[in-house]
Amino acid sequence: MLLTGKTYNKICLFCRKEFEAQKRTTKYCSHQCNSRAYKVRKRDEKDVEVNFEEFVKRELQYQRELMSQIQVTLSELIESQKFSSKDFITPTEYCNHYGISRKTLSRYIKDNKVIVHKLSNRKFLIKKTSYYDSKNVLP
Ligand SMILES: [Zn+2]
Repeated sequence: MLLTGKTYNKICLFCRKEFEAQKRTTKYCSHQCNSRAYKVRKRDEKDVEVNFEEFVKRELQYQRELMSQIQVTLSELIESQKFSSKDFITPTEYCNHYGISRKTLSRYIKDNKVIVHKLSNRKFLIKKTSYYDSKNVLP
């Protein structure tokens, strides 16, 4: 076969052997290397797609969790705002206000000595002025 024009010394991108190409853009030494490289590329693309899908799924899940956390926090905040204006305070504030321990407060709650407003399963407020003690009644 008569070669017209010049040839290019290239290195096959698949098998790394040197070969003479008739086109500057030729990447592979043979049809075999070309199709093998194509298969590898396709497989890699598929892997990337799967990973991306998982990444997006994880990301969406994370966003959803974040949103629900924000909603819970927000509703707790709104509730506490609503009740703080009506003289409801947090357990910590209550303890500090009357100089009592959390243990004492727990006893008050158990004995229904204070008025408790539940915000959620974990959080609650106590009416600031609700206090009963056999010895003294605080304002
Ligand atoms: Zn090759």
